[in-house]
Amino acid sequence: MSRKVVGMTCGTMEASGTSGLRHVLNDAYVRAIKEAGGIPVVLPSLCTPSEETWRGYLDIIDGLLLTGGADIDPAYYGQAPHEKLGEVQPMRDATEIPLVRKAIERNLPIFGICRGIQVLNVALGGTLYQDLPSEFPSEIHHRQTDLGYTRSDFCHSITIEPGSRLASIVGCTEMQVNSLHHQAVRDVAPGLKVVARAPDGVIEGLESERHRFVLAVQFHPEETAAAHDPRSKRLFEAFLAAL
Ligand code: MN
Repeated sequence: MSRKVVGMTCGTMEASGTSGLRHVLNDAYVRAIKEAGGIPVVLPSLCTPSEETWRGYLDIIDGLLLTGGADIDPAYYGQAPHEKLGEVQPMRDATEIPLVRKAIERNLPIFGICRGIQVLNVALGGTLYQDLPSEFPSEIHHRQTDLGYTRSDFCHSITIEPGSRLASIVGCTEMQVNSLHHQAVRDVAPGLKVVARAPDGVIEGLESERHRFVLAVQFHPEETAAAHDPRSKRLFEAFLAAL
């Protein structure tokens, strides 16, 4: 069987000096896809994406990995910006949100991570907490770097819905995860099901039961897969196996 191509969305960053805008992606995603046996391909954001862009991207990939990154413009879910809204990247939103809808229409396998669970939810009609600490005060700290943890340390547990795809992949209904987010899913989009929550109730996993493979998590398994965690690795292996 030929190796499968995984398209990975990425962020944009203003370079210093005169080089202009850059397309950026953490190596941990590239490594996790490669380790799971896939061929990682980066899908840059375009300032004027078109039907041709989205069709072209989807024609050359077997699965779509929605990676982490900046906040989504709340206009996409009908809200004004909260004062604690972080950086937004208009090109990325404009490229990625329609791409998700079109991938869903094609029943292309999708794995979303961090911003990826948020993009999936918004693309299908859901909303977000724009700033979790102020809009959903909790004992649980969801941005672990504020506490001095590294990106691959575990920070809080999640409870997983028995019988879900996520539970069958990781082989348990409770596990430890890292946490590197200040936004989170608020109202869940039609067609998506909550399959994991943090102890404070924050949504940490969504999936669709009507598609080949549509799974998204709020944590960052690409960081813990490389470091130490076999369950995180299995998430990437299960995604590749579905392509
Ligand atoms: Mn969390």
